[in-house]
Amino acid sequence: MFEIAIMLLPVAAASGWYAASKHYKAKEKRPTNEHKGYFKGLNFLLNEQPDKAISVFIDLLEVDDETIEIHLALGTLFRQRGEVEKAIRLHQNLIARPQISQQIRSNALNELGLDYMRAGLLDRAESIFLELENDVVLKCQAVKQLFSIFQQEKEWLKAADYAVKLEAIDRRKQPILLSHLYCQLALLSNAELDRVAARNYLKKALRIDSSCVRANVISAEIAMAESDYKEALKAILKIQDQDERFVPVFIDVIINCFNQLDMSKKKFDFLAGVQANNQSTIAMSRFVDVLIEQKSNKEALAFLHEKLLQNPQKGYLKLYAEFDVDNTGESESVFLRGVIKQLAEEEQSFKCRQCGFSSVDLNWCCPSCKDWGTVEPILT
Ligand SMILES: [Zn+2]
Repeated sequence: MFEIAIMLLPVAAASGWYAASKHYKAKEKRPTNEHKGYFKGLNFLLNEQPDKAISVFIDLLEVDDETIEIHLALGTLFRQRGEVEKAIRLHQNLIARPQISQQIRSNALNELGLDYMRAGLLDRAESIFLELENDVVLKCQAVKQLFSIFQQEKEWLKAADYAVKLEAIDRRKQPILLSHLYCQLALLSNAELDRVAARNYLKKALRIDSSCVRANVISAEIAMAESDYKEALKAILKIQDQDERFVPVFIDVIINCFNQLDMSKKKFDFLAGVQANNQSTIAMSRFVDVLIEQKSNKEALAFLHEKLLQNPQKGYLKLYAEFDVDNTGESESVFLRGVIKQLAEEEQSFKCRQCGFSSVDLNWCCPSCKDWGTVEPILT
């Protein structure tokens, strides 16, 4: 309440000044309506009735070039404070005034669009910004907002169109963003069982950003859905050259392809190579599995023991504990299980390089900063 009163003081002062200046200019003898209104508004304010005070002050202020900034500033303040309904009412009032200039109307319309976005009324915001896209001054702002709206509405084709428009406006290429939008379109086409369109979008994504790991992951998923494991393996192995930090993330997809194709020797060599070049616990874990599968328990345990001595990191210790847990006495088993639990709780798999958001799932679009392709695996 007190904050609103403080917030309104500049408006009250401005409306008082405006009323007084009009009064002296006109040299009227009778008290003006502006004066009456000003004191009425002030009275509401003092009696802690800010809503009524707002209405009085807004009505009191004639909308013209001198007062428009006050109206717009007040509207912005309302929106920032989360009082979106008041902001909407104020901006709608402004737009309804016939005497305002075209540019002022456009500015107010822009503010109303932002109010609608804040209120989650995306359809209304969209029609406003589509109108403002034709305004020379507000065009850039409108394109940015439309891009944001189409993303929120998951209208990926329109979002991609507006991302291209944004590139032209900012004179800055955005290959990572665009490739992810084409990946979204590929997923959409695939869900509609249009695999030709899906593959075309994936090609487009890779043409724009040759390091787009996600495009190859989706390619592999589509091929696996068609039981084409040869094609799936070809696609998913490309991520080694794109960004090898993602190999442990999709290592089970790769293993599945090798298994389906009965390529046990190649699977062994691949996993041996990954664990040799990668500190990842998952890579190590899968190599230990293949050692057990194709060699022996003893060899796997000896290998893990050796690795732990060379590089005593937590992840390896966890693996060792998991492996050895059934071969130990009861008290040691309890101790090892405790270690496993503690290590599992400390594990964090992904982090956004843009905002630092951490998660256990891979999000191609960061849930916190909403940037595409900024979430990366943390090696554990
Ligand atoms: Zn982020």
